[in-house]
Amino acid sequence: MTLALPATGAEVRLAARPRGWPTPETFSVVRTELPAVRPGQVLVRNLLMSVDPYMRGRMNNVRSYVPPFAVGKALDGGAVGEVVVSKSPALAAGDLVLHGLGWREYAVMGAAGAVRVDPAAAPPGAYLGVLGMPGHAAYAGLLKAARLREGDVVFVSGAAGAVGSLAGQIARLCGASKVVGSAGSAAKAAYLTGELGFDAAFNYRDGPVREQLAAAAPEGIDVYFDNVGGDHLDAALLQARMNARFALCGAVSQYNEQDGATGPQQLMQAIAKGITLRGFLVSEFGGLRDEFLTRVGRWLAEGRITYRETVVNGLENAPAAFIDMLRGANTGKMLVRISD
Ligand code: NAP
Repeated sequence: MTLALPATGAEVRLAARPRGWPTPETFSVVRTELPAVRPGQVLVRNLLMSVDPYMRGRMNNVRSYVPPFAVGKALDGGAVGEVVVSKSPALAAGDLVLHGLGWREYAVMGAAGAVRVDPAAAPPGAYLGVLGMPGHAAYAGLLKAARLREGDVVFVSGAAGAVGSLAGQIARLCGASKVVGSAGSAAKAAYLTGELGFDAAFNYRDGPVREQLAAAAPEGIDVYFDNVGGDHLDAALLQARMNARFALCGAVSQYNEQDGATGPQQLMQAIAKGITLRGFLVSEFGGLRDEFLTRVGRWLAEGRITYRETVVNGLENAPAAFIDMLRGANTGKMLVRISD
């Protein structure tokens, strides 16, 4: 039987660089001819793709740790799909793979760019979230960048998102004496304390972060896992105990600032309190991946960790999903379902 292979596929391109917040005009959805699959390559039908905050940085034309997206070209990012054609002995048609060519229906890539994942071990979305890059960032950030110790009082911002929801749970499982989280709605705060086991949580929109954090952790904090930057970072500096350790994972409150990010106002606190401010990228801790997968995989299997996904259907809705994620429409990992 000859399999009818697709000749074309839809992809999402960067139509224009955003100034401030991205809008629908930032993107274009275009149907394009698929390249031939050459020896050593595979053709993958994408099932799910990830929208991540770091992608906003790649829309700016600045040098960074990853090259900027090119105007007029397809975006890329984490995706899980099914191999439909393989011209490599490393992968076979039917394999489920994790790779970096999201934002399109079909992707052609060298087999080395795709990692086989086990659909029996976890649902496909987990490989983009709890068992993927965000989970890895939570694990490495907390245990290595912040050097979490038993008895620590831990504050996590962006705590209902993909990274934050896991960071808080790992802190609890690794012996934190108290875990405090912040998020952008009452429902999210209730999710943190009700379902994820945080000891306290607040909605940062309810009042100054500084006051709400001081009320939630009057004894002070030893570890801050920062996903947000801005006023959250200042509040954490003010509430820090001596020798507190901060893992600077992200600064999502700043990514759409048109005229440059606002720096922390309370940095002098770090001097008097001997605070360690440790920025990190998950790529720095590649060597920790097996340990992360083993431990978090076990906690998941034992039901000691839970996670949520917010799934938007249709590649054409990926731009909206991305913008909505930056606005906080997601609880847990924001994903786009491209195909069943
Ligand atoms: P996420 O938390 O699932 O989604 C982004 C969240 O940011 C939204 O749900 C929203 O939740 C929150 N947010 C948006 N604007 C905000 C503001 N002004 N103040 C406070 N919160 C705001 O995304 P994620 O993938 O888990 O990433 C979280 C952070 O980790 C990001 O800063 C990201 O860049 C960073 N990150 C870093 C690494 C690394 O290697 N260092 C790896 C992965 C991710 P609310 O409803 O709570 O506002």
